[in-house]
Amino acid sequence: MTLSTPAPIHPGHELRDSALRQLDSAARALNLDPGMHKFLSTPERTLIVSVPVMLEDGQLEVYTGYRVQHSTGRGPGKGGIRFHPGVTLEEVEGLAMLMTWKCAVTDLPLGGAKGGVAVDPHRLTRRQVERLTKRYTAAILPIIGPERDIPAPDVNTDESTMAWIVDTVTMMTGQHSPEVVTGKPIELGGSRGRTEATGRGVAFVTLEALKRAGRLPENTRVAVQGFGNVGSVTAKGLAEAGCKIVAVSDVSGGYAAPYGIDIPGAIEHVRRHPKRMLEGLPGLSKISNAELIAMDVDVLVPAALEGQITSANVHEVRAKIIVEGANGPITADADRKLADRGVVIMPDILANAGGVVVSYFEWVQSRAQFYWELDEVERRLEIYMRRASDLVLAKTKVYDCTPREAAFIVAVERVASAIEKRGIFP
Ligand code: NAD
Repeated sequence: MTLSTPAPIHPGHELRDSALRQLDSAARALNLDPGMHKFLSTPERTLIVSVPVMLEDGQLEVYTGYRVQHSTGRGPGKGGIRFHPGVTLEEVEGLAMLMTWKCAVTDLPLGGAKGGVAVDPHRLTRRQVERLTKRYTAAILPIIGPERDIPAPDVNTDESTMAWIVDTVTMMTGQHSPEVVTGKPIELGGSRGRTEATGRGVAFVTLEALKRAGRLPENTRVAVQGFGNVGSVTAKGLAEAGCKIVAVSDVSGGYAAPYGIDIPGAIEHVRRHPKRMLEGLPGLSKISNAELIAMDVDVLVPAALEGQITSANVHEVRAKIIVEGANGPITADADRKLADRGVVIMPDILANAGGVVVSYFEWVQSRAQFYWELDEVERRLEIYMRRASDLVLAKTKVYDCTPREAAFIVAVERVASAIEKRGIFP
């Protein structure tokens, strides 16, 4: 059987080039040593592996897998594994670099890594995906491990994938190894609060941006695009803090209420909906996703997809603060225009880092074999997210730059300083 490979959504080299441009701009602001700049521009280690999988009809299919460690200057590599036909080496390199900055901006003692297999898992049976995962894990085993590089779920991988990785490492090393990955099922050492971590983190970052702008949550109107894992939890957290969530949306469209939407009710509606959608939510006006982006609100949280605010619709955006729940929801063009208008954009590498922060907590718990209660996880997550946001916003004053530039400056400075202090081996 030959599987066709659809074109990637985003050519991987574009993603890597954009990560490199952001590094270049931080390096200029920091007056970074050219040698260090060069070191940080290239991954420390790249492994490309062949992943053969025997299909049920006795035919052999072979996929290409990658694991890239961009930097282990501050600690073991950390980053997800994606299964997608569009996975390329360039994409994995770019994503690994972004993980370095994401871990550094939140001050986790971890480096950046990423992995992937160029495969469409929807064309395989569950048993075949399990075999693929186990073979890929065996192939990258020489470079992963709790003190080397700790994978996690990403596009088309989940807690079952992580459980298969734990099994493979345990069988191959003879040692029970839950700490080799994060995003595991709770029964196998997963952390409480991991599923909600990204959305809760987005809410904390939003509250910190409001505090800095001198705004009270009670007087803040928010629109959230996307009502999945990230969007719904963000909306819930902000509503609990007193904000008025005046619009939400998902693939079925947007829903607005000028006096605020009952978010727990909306979450319950989605949970009961056969397709897990907002469709049919009673008592609200129906709007389009385009109208949601153009709403007269104080805060806009794009938490659905990349590339939602572009040069085509940026002039319609009226929010004063945008918090990037999704990865890359604003194109570079639109980002410049919004910055020129003084819109505060809390960037994705900071705003949606709550997931990796709780992944770090999971790693700590698995290593200690001692598991925290949910309130402990949430309390510590809030400390990490608020502290990182506060520092990034303070740096915008020092460097006269946007929060996005400041987040990269904080991250690059931390990584470069750790490497400098260690000294270049030998
Ligand atoms: P999800 O699949 O749970 O939810 C996505 C939501 O977006 C759904 O409600 C979907 O209906 C909606 N949506 C899709 N297309 C839309 C459109 N055109 N207009 C409006 N809504 C649309 O996904 P998620 O886990 O919430 O992730 C959302 C974003 O956050 C992605 O960019 C993801 O990469 C990023 N992210 C997620 C995590 C995490 O821990 N889940 C961490 C970091 C970043």
